[in-house]
Amino acid sequence: MKTYRIATIPGDGIGKEVVPAGQRVLEAIAARSNTFGFAFENFDWGGDYYRQHGAMMPADGLDALRDKDAILFGSAGDPHIPDHITLWGLRLKICQGFDQYANVRPTRILPGIDGPLKRCAPQDLDWVIVRENSEGEYAGVGGRAHQGHPIEVATDVSMMTRAGVERILRFAFRLAQTRPRKLLTVITKSNAQRHAMVMWDEIALQISQEFPDVRWDKELVDAATARMVNRPATLDTIVATNLHADILSDLAAALAGSLGIAPTANLDPERRYPSMFEPIHGSAFDIMGKGLANPVGTFWSAVMMLEHLGEDAAARQLMAVIERVTADPSLHTGDLGGSATTAQVTDAVCALLASEAAGGTAATDVKAA
Ligand code: NAD
Ligand code: MN
Repeated sequence: MKTYRIATIPGDGIGKEVVPAGQRVLEAIAARSNTFGFAFENFDWGGDYYRQHGAMMPADGLDALRDKDAILFGSAGDPHIPDHITLWGLRLKICQGFDQYANVRPTRILPGIDGPLKRCAPQDLDWVIVRENSEGEYAGVGGRAHQGHPIEVATDVSMMTRAGVERILRFAFRLAQTRPRKLLTVITKSNAQRHAMVMWDEIALQISQEFPDVRWDKELVDAATARMVNRPATLDTIVATNLHADILSDLAAALAGSLGIAPTANLDPERRYPSMFEPIHGSAFDIMGKGLANPVGTFWSAVMMLEHLGEDAAARQLMAVIERVTADPSLHTGDLGGSATTAQVTDAVCALLASEAAGGTAATDVKAA
């Protein structure tokens, strides 16, 4: 029996609600298995930790995570601490510290969810956005001088390295190759950003030659937003820079019904370090502490974690159960127009997992049913 060591980092806001829900669901999926289980270790890092210790996480925090098989993360962001401190002090520290350079964001319209696009059938929107997650606009390079004076200056320098662009494009082409349509759209802004983005285009052409069976095209990021809305079926796998893909993936989540559903994986594809799985939403100050957060984004992230761990059957089972739950409007949370609570959705997922364990039904059968 294999035991996976999982670090849970709820962080702030609704992260404290959805991560325990995600842990319960992972425990329920493990209870069905006689081949694997989980050993969870929780870390209370985030805004409260910052108020006590003056930092979002301990200086040697990465060492406590290093030997884990994966990390389940909630959100960093506290109403009383500036966002750049919470983000850089926790989430980016882990992503960059563990060189989780590939951020993978699948988007689909799940059963029972009513997306906002009136001419888009559910099957028309089936995307995976690959976000460069280690450099670019979020390299952290820049500075400020003469603060408060009329000559004040501030810079955020976007840094793109050949090594960084090659590895994310190779990752994206490889991912596109595993999907049925073998179709990749490379997004840039190489008309206006005439140095790094032009290099990005050149490297895309170079890497494409390693993948002759993948069809690919290019789109400027502004045009890409319109294409996502007007011609969603023309997209499949998408690769973009750190900032561009951050913005596009919130749009993608909204087009698929809600930010509360969307998952993400921060991957170190070389597996030198643990990878980190999290819903793409933030702390949601407006609903935190009320038990109203949609936990589906976290559950779908748990599916991605299971896939990363090589537990493909369990991943399929959990995804099938999630889709059964989203198909039932009485289990929709407020972001989907319903009135279900985090606990009710979580209970429903756990109950289905338990009943199928008892009945011995495989999830692939559930999906077909
Ligand atoms: P947000 O995702 O927290 O919220 C945007 C809107 O979506 C809110 O109305 C919120 O109620 C709703 N929403 C989000 N997730 C939901 C869920 N699971 N269920 C139901 N409704 C949900 O984005 P924001 O308001 O821009 O940011 C709030 C804080 O979170 C900021 O401090 C920000 O920096 C931080 N943040 C952190 C991360 C992260 O750690 N990965 C990501 C995004 C934002
Ligand atoms: Mn974002």
